[in-house]
Amino acid sequence: MEVHNVEIVMSAVSPSQYPTDGQPEFALVGRSNVGKSSLTNTLINRKGLARTSSQPGKTQTLNFYHVEETFYFVDVPGYGYAKVSKKKREAFGQMIETYISTRKQLRGVIALVDARHAPSQEDVMMYQWLDYYNIPILVVATKSDKIARGKFNQAESIIKKALEFNPENSTFQFFSSQTKAGKDEVWQWIESHM
Ligand code: GDP
Repeated sequence: MEVHNVEIVMSAVSPSQYPTDGQPEFALVGRSNVGKSSLTNTLINRKGLARTSSQPGKTQTLNFYHVEETFYFVDVPGYGYAKVSKKKREAFGQMIETYISTRKQLRGVIALVDARHAPSQEDVMMYQWLDYYNIPILVVATKSDKIARGKFNQAESIIKKALEFNPENSTFQFFSSQTKAGKDEVWQWIESHM
């Protein structure tokens, strides 16, 4: 998709502030610093629209970006700074959990992991939680420009194994906001789930 028109519609702190037009939504989740703002800005051809790195301890809000007046990207706060507790449901806010598990308009979740490393415990927990709810998931392995050519298969295997990747609802894609590698594939996935 060639994007010309994006609006930040709102930062929602409660469900009453979510959009009410029923258009499709795609959530983006990942640890702070994984490259979520960079991915978002690459997809929508903007330099600085999506904010970089949510600050630790900041009030958690869902940011809705209205794209071409047809669907929304929903930026979910980075989870890297939250202390992980034993129970999955305590690992991130109740608001986010409720949003992801009950939102009818949610067509899929783009779950970002760093292509260079094995997924963190939190990445694994997030993925498995999404899988449990049988949500279509696009696992995007970011910063792929930092991976040597010969190491792609290995990196993909490590990530999939750690996540217990489920091909029935999940797709895997390398991505680089520097080279834009993977951009078309990410758009294809979004459009095929619209
Ligand atoms: P966020 O906290 O998840 O929104 O992460 P950002 O998009 O702000 O990126 C965090 C850092 O990683 C920044 O310094 C980015 O420049 C860098 N970064 C993001 N994407 C890429 C990428 O594809 N390749 C490389 N080499 N660096 C990236």
